[in-house]
Amino acid sequence: MAKMKELKDLYLDELQDLYSAESQLLEALPKVAKKATSKELKTALEAHLEETKTQQEKVAKLLESHDEKPGKETCLAMKGLIAETNKVMGEEMTPEVMDAAIIACAQRVEHYEISGYGTVRSFAESLGLKGDVKVITSIFEQEEAADQKLSSIAEGSVNEKAMAGSSSK
Ligand code: ZN
Ligand code: FE
Ligand code: FE
Ligand code: FE
Repeated sequence: MAKMKELKDLYLDELQDLYSAESQLLEALPKVAKKATSKELKTALEAHLEETKTQQEKVAKLLESHDEKPGKETCLAMKGLIAETNKVMGEEMTPEVMDAAIIACAQRVEHYEISGYGTVRSFAESLGLKGDVKVITSIFEQEEAADQKLSSIAEGSVNEKAMAGSSSK
């Protein structure tokens, strides 16, 4: 990207990064949902895949509203998080332990997104972009809810089942 001279340039670059992150997730999430055994986990991942589609569209529209064409960046962090998820999914585990491992990977992704959207929201606030703040907040809240849902699935059933698996070997 061209030399960034002001916060607005960095704001747009960060939005491009998030657009790339969401795009990569759109490709990766179906495989992760398929790998999950817990019905509750599968359903949560599938629901978040649907949200991810709308998030990608919202970020694209934000970029376009600033005359930026989406797709200029590759989010290397998301690339790494997905590579790690694929590695984990290739390891030998009982289905119960795999569900716990999938949640561990998925929550890393959600935390990365929460961090990214938190940053662009505070940039948008500084830049006085009230409409952008609203859109970003709607995405931020979905990422937070997805993270909390994963915690509740882990703590409500998946972790316990993974323990039971180890005692019965
Ligand atoms: Zn960048
Ligand atoms: Fe997202
Ligand atoms: Fe990134
Ligand atoms: Fe997410």
